[in-house]
Amino acid sequence: MAATLLAPSSAPTYLPGLRLTLIGSRKLSKTTTFINCSAAQASPPMDGQRHSKKHVAVCGGGIIGVCTAYFLAKKGAAVTLIEKSSVACAASGKAGGFLALDWCDGGPLSSLARASFNLHRSLAEELNGPDNYGYRALTTLSLTVTESQQSGSKPSNKANSLIPSWVDGPARSPTTIGSTQTTAQVHPQLFTKTLLNKAVNDYGLEVVIGKVERVGVGEGGRVESVMIEGGRVVESDAVVLALGPWSGKFELLASMFRVSGLKAHSIILEPKEADAITPHALFLSYYPAQGEGGKPMDPEVYPRPTVKWSSKYTCGKHAGAK
Ligand SMILES: Cc1cc2nc3c(=O)[nH]c(=O)nc-3n(C[C@H](O)[C@H](O)[C@H](O)COP(=O)(O)OP(=O)(O)OC[C@H]3O[C@@H](n4cnc5c(N)ncnc54)[C@H](O)[C@@H]3O)c2cc1C
Repeated sequence: MAATLLAPSSAPTYLPGLRLTLIGSRKLSKTTTFINCSAAQASPPMDGQRHSKKHVAVCGGGIIGVCTAYFLAKKGAAVTLIEKSSVACAASGKAGGFLALDWCDGGPLSSLARASFNLHRSLAEELNGPDNYGYRALTTLSLTVTESQQSGSKPSNKANSLIPSWVDGPARSPTTIGSTQTTAQVHPQLFTKTLLNKAVNDYGLEVVIGKVERVGVGEGGRVESVMIEGGRVVESDAVVLALGPWSGKFELLASMFRVSGLKAHSIILEPKEADAITPHALFLSYYPAQGEGGKPMDPEVYPRPTVKWSSKYTCGKHAGAK
């Protein structure tokens, strides 16, 4: 692409280890206006017959941005992914990575959830998911745990064959809520980075580390560029905003959708005997000894396959989360 780079006031940085290419930029026409989000019509679909590729700027390097960039690049678009910090640095790198086929059934997201679960299965075959990002099927249980106030010997769970041997606390009422046909897991950061690397190496995805500030819209209301902090302009035929909870910072998006974050914590534990940890995910109703007025907490436990990837992952909503 013939391009004149606008001189940025500070040079953008790029992901280490990735193929680097200067993104074509050009001086914008006098009629270009920058708004906080594009209200332009979507570009016509790419049919693979065109001589010139459509250029798409995907903003946000979480799982949504990277997956969008991956499939667009695989379909033949020229894609630039712009991430302000590092790929999968936010929720997409810290999530449990739990996948369920049918837990949205009966709701508006049912077909999306089912398609996503099946797509994960086929991607895992294509990209060697078990070795590259810990994809595996799980048995999923709900359990009630009431912490004892007395110290001393813990009650044994051996009598209940549903409860995995590594659960050594006072667990009761185990119920199977997902089978190896309907629940699975990935290591979310490794999944996101595996997809990113494949898109960079095989489909020519370009990655820029920089903070998206504005989307430029030209005459006729068409998207034509993205402006990055420091003054750099990336030209594009279409823009995807996949900024997670930061999406609300774009005024037009915020006026159309209510986007808010939900704070959650995660802890990673390394077990002494990693081999003893079976592929079970646990959804707990946990009554602490010094309780919060008898209300249970609801931590989720997702053991991961190897110590290298950290073995036991626990997460739950922040106490103040609404
Ligand atoms: C503790 C925890 C556990 C979870 N467990 C699960 C689970 O088990 N299963 C499940 O399905 N989901 C789970 N989730 C939810 C899941 O992680 C999120 O839905 C998902 O990661 C959202 O991805 P995203 O790409 O939309 O957003 P994010 O991961 O937030 O990515 C947005 C990206 O945009 C970038 N960005 C922001 N502003 C700009 C800008 N101006 N310019 C450029 N880049 C910008 C950010 O740096 C970030 O990298 C969990 C979430 C949490 C917090």
